[in-house]
Amino acid sequence: MSIYAELGLPTLINANATLTRLGGSVMPPEVVQAMAEAAQHYVDLPAMQRRVGERIAELTQNEAAYVSSGAAAGLVLAAAACVTGTDPAAIYRLPNTDGLKNEVIVHKSHRNGYDHAVRQVGVTLREIGYAGSTAEWELKAAINENTAAVFWFQGAMSGKGDLPLQRVIDIASEHSVPVVVDGAAQLPPISNLWNYTQMGAALAVFSGGKDLRGPQSSGLVLGRADLIDAVRMNGNPNHSIGRPMKVGKEELAGCLKAVELYVQGDDEARRARDEETVAAWMSAWSSLPGVEVERSFPNEAGQPLPRAIVTIDEDETGIGRDEVIRTLLDGDPAIDVGARGHNRIAVNPWLLSDEERRIVAERLTTVLSRRSVPA
Ligand SMILES: *Cc1c(COP(=O)(O)O)cnc(C)c1O
Repeated sequence: MSIYAELGLPTLINANATLTRLGGSVMPPEVVQAMAEAAQHYVDLPAMQRRVGERIAELTQNEAAYVSSGAAAGLVLAAAACVTGTDPAAIYRLPNTDGLKNEVIVHKSHRNGYDHAVRQVGVTLREIGYAGSTAEWELKAAINENTAAVFWFQGAMSGKGDLPLQRVIDIASEHSVPVVVDGAAQLPPISNLWNYTQMGAALAVFSGGKDLRGPQSSGLVLGRADLIDAVRMNGNPNHSIGRPMKVGKEELAGCLKAVELYVQGDDEARRARDEETVAAWMSAWSSLPGVEVERSFPNEAGQPLPRAIVTIDEDETGIGRDEVIRTLLDGDPAIDVGARGHNRIAVNPWLLSDEERRIVAERLTTVLSRRSVPA
């Protein structure tokens, strides 16, 4: 009996995304194996963090690397590192930042739930720009002697009207201010593991438990060696703001294995496979009355992967959007899809096996053709 059956919890077919609330992603057997091996012995944990960091830095073409307990924890440690450097007195004092550089510049348009991770270090966010436009002078005027860093959140929140990331990096660098990129969900492409830092970002942060398919509670902080030293000092097991964000030997081993596998991946091949599925879904569903299907690319987070967006005309189908979602979730196996607008769902092949792709095609066809009484 599986642990989920024992707990009375149905498992899901995840046709949505690498959402934390659905369990992030599923680890390859090699990653599970690495974790199981790591679980069997004691080890000097800080030494392991260093060694794993060296290996991950090599694999991702970065100067240095740190494994955090998730991207959000990585943001906390990155912010702390920019505020304290390697000064033990400053590290001890957080989240009190009196007398330290304690302002972080961020595009107003980038404000999102994850900026709590930055704020908890005790810094003030200094916003630049408006929702749809930001000018260079605003960044230049915001930089002052208290500026600890510029944070850049890449994803659904970044977009039209932002300063280009390269300009942000160039301007901040003129004032020796580090730029930290939250790229938590910016894999694929694989090359983003080095793209941001090669552009000149001081640090880039990624989730280990999303497309990387490492442990759900792991993340990567990649970049400048001096700042990674400061990240490490602000992290577990040191008594610091990062002490509650523990990374165990199992996560370290699993995350390293996940990165090893990930950099051997083939972005083009997996995209081609998803394109094929989206095309098959489109032809299966678009002939149903009251249903329109379009291919959406790139996806919401900006990843180069296609999805199907299904628009449901309730008058024609006899079943509304919310009921479609509920019916899919109540089925066996349960299927989770994304809600968009008031009458659309996003169906994503990204995380699905071949078998699951077929199940999703069939189930949605059944649900959408349920209308019994013709109009
Ligand atoms: C998912 C996500 C995070 C948090 O990542 P965790 O690994 O779940 O901590 C932070 N920022 C962005 C933009 C994300 O998408």
